[in-house]
Amino acid sequence: MAFLRSICAQRTNLVYSCSVSGSSSLGAGKRQFGSNKPTTGVAAAASNSWSNDELNYSTALYQSKRVFPQTLFASIYGQQQRGVHTNATKSQTVAATQTIGDEQKSSVYSKSRTPPTPNVPENPQRDPLDVSFNDPVAAFKSKTTWELVRAYLVYMICSSEKLVEHNMKLMKVANTILGEKLFTALMKATFYGHFVAGEDQIKIIPTLERLRSFGVKPILDYSVEEDLSQEEAEKREVESSVSSAGDVKEDDAMPQYHVDKSFADRRYKVNSARTYFYLNEATCERNMETFIKCLEAVSGATFGTGITAIKLTALGRPQLLLQLSEVIMRTRKYMEDMVGGQGNVLTHHKTIKDLEKYYASLGDNKNVQDFLKNVTSDKEGILHLFPWSGIVDEDSQLSDTFRVPDPKTGQMRRLISQIPPKEEEMFRNMIRRLNTIVKTAAELDVRIMIDAEQTYFQPAISRITLEMMRKYNKEKAIVFNTYQCYLREAFREVNTDLEQAKRQDFYFGAKLVRGAYMEQERARAQALGYPDPVNPSYEATTEMYHKTLTECLRRIKILKDNGEDAKKIGIMVASHNEDTVRYAIEKMKEIGISPEDKVICFGQLLGMCDYITFPLGQAGYSAYKYIPYGPVQEVLPYLSRRAQENKGVLKKIQKEKRLLLAEIRRRLMRGQLFYKPKGNYVPI
Ligand SMILES: Cc1cc2nc3c(=O)[nH]c(=O)nc-3n(C[C@H](O)[C@H](O)[C@H](O)COP(=O)(O)OP(=O)(O)OC[C@H]3O[C@@H](n4cnc5c(N)ncnc54)[C@H](O)[C@@H]3O)c2cc1C
Repeated sequence: MAFLRSICAQRTNLVYSCSVSGSSSLGAGKRQFGSNKPTTGVAAAASNSWSNDELNYSTALYQSKRVFPQTLFASIYGQQQRGVHTNATKSQTVAATQTIGDEQKSSVYSKSRTPPTPNVPENPQRDPLDVSFNDPVAAFKSKTTWELVRAYLVYMICSSEKLVEHNMKLMKVANTILGEKLFTALMKATFYGHFVAGEDQIKIIPTLERLRSFGVKPILDYSVEEDLSQEEAEKREVESSVSSAGDVKEDDAMPQYHVDKSFADRRYKVNSARTYFYLNEATCERNMETFIKCLEAVSGATFGTGITAIKLTALGRPQLLLQLSEVIMRTRKYMEDMVGGQGNVLTHHKTIKDLEKYYASLGDNKNVQDFLKNVTSDKEGILHLFPWSGIVDEDSQLSDTFRVPDPKTGQMRRLISQIPPKEEEMFRNMIRRLNTIVKTAAELDVRIMIDAEQTYFQPAISRITLEMMRKYNKEKAIVFNTYQCYLREAFREVNTDLEQAKRQDFYFGAKLVRGAYMEQERARAQALGYPDPVNPSYEATTEMYHKTLTECLRRIKILKDNGEDAKKIGIMVASHNEDTVRYAIEKMKEIGISPEDKVICFGQLLGMCDYITFPLGQAGYSAYKYIPYGPVQEVLPYLSRRAQENKGVLKKIQKEKRLLLAEIRRRLMRGQLFYKPKGNYVPI
């Protein structure tokens, strides 16, 4: 204990010295609760000299100081006073700056692991579902009339090409002219109020409570973004995407997995997703803390039903994701070459004996023999060249793992270029951060969804996520992967991962999306000269989405029919497309899967397509809203993207506007202008 206190004291000094300069590196001291501002100056310098031990220590400290979520959400439990929660949250803010605390406190924290029980209404309401999603009352019964007027106003602005095009500039000018206070009030009355739930975990509680009382659950996303110039974004990306040993390209290097300055600003033509740019290890550490705070908030507010969204690019150096992605794709290619160029991992018929025979014919190489001894195959005969599970072990060494015998020379060769020890350590840090997050999610009994990002990161993100699923989804789906159905390979990827989950007996969780990076993907593929990874048309993407969803449902049905746990496969239909939502509902009915099976859920963004989410939740379907939150000034880039995205979906906006007008008129005629939303629903 004394030892811990002494390290704590050192850590306190470090953090306070950082905050004196105006920026803290560890989510502590002067930093605003949950703030995600870029780390600069002293903090950056401090972070560069951080050893692994320090980072590990900060994680341990964080875990030991976790505030129990019940205190944050007492109004839902009806047990504690709000003042207590505020204090609890403040104490969480300074967690990393204080001494670890006494045993009494830690026993309180350990009590936090007991999941809270909700106050359930005696006769919860449930409505029939109009699958044409044309019922304005069902769409907006959770909204005050003022909120409807505000939504209408926001959509009107989003329909104006000129306003949307210059929205970021306009917001900055308004900020300067009005001053921060007035500007904040203006934003809260318009865009911010419509698209963002509040500044922090406390301020979003009323929104979460209201959603819950109308049958809708949250996916929390702390949406603070750095407002970097293109130049700064490119600089950071290029620096963090190349190893200190240089950008070594092997003979069979794949251009897509190497950074290119012209596409280094990953925000290029991306409206519906947020982008992290790597600064240093301390920033990643702080991002981890933010994700953990989201988990705690979601745990308290939703009684185990909520979700937190995670982006892997927030947790580590992109270079490592690029390198791992390349090695995964080169391994696949290697296997294809070995088994004759055709089929995927599920259909090849080579055995370990075949490999042994082949390499014996090339000579007597001890290293190759040792390698082959470690190759395993599963009960269906599928070869596993590497113990992939090793990559999520916190002591994995990428450079050592990915070596294979060369089929031409019979000598061992690397599939990954040599990674300097410091960068290997950074990879382990990234994995440790993710492990910490997932462990916390498991302890708090909430789920995490790992977002899908650009295709040049995606093989690594998907592989790491799958291994996390294997590790943590043993009794239920804690970790969800995301599959982008605009990719030509989407169906194959999902099918392969479903098969792995089945064979290795873990719970498979997936969010299906169309995908947010289409234009960038296409432009990059064309410029760098590799095949376009995106489906040729929107129709092909929709077909891919529906085919993939159908395959998941088919497998769920088989589980159900065999008397196995149908929840072994859990799918989120994350789409604003009502045809896709309808398709899912119809297929569920056709196949005999009910909302009560809790295997299919739906997700839309806060402030978008309420006419889909709320009727679904009120009818007893598992419905989620993606809930962004963060201080007004720091979510402006997020708001800017929302405006851009809405401009691109005019058809949906027109429907939303038509329904809003219908409901405002109806309330006016019925004298219900001061209608107070009060729901009696319980999310499934
Ligand atoms: C809860 C939630 C979570 C999300 N998480 C992620 C995530 O982790 N990663 C991610 O990438 N996206 C994510 N998205 C965004 C999503 O991928 C889409 O960009 C967005 O939802 C629009 O697709 P849609 O199905 O809602 O609507 P639609 O309007 O039906 O589809 C529009 C999308 O279809 C695609 N498309 C359009 N035209 C074509 C064409 N010619 N060829 C091929 N495709 C075309 C484009 O990607 C376009 O954005 C998420 C969305 C939600 C609601």
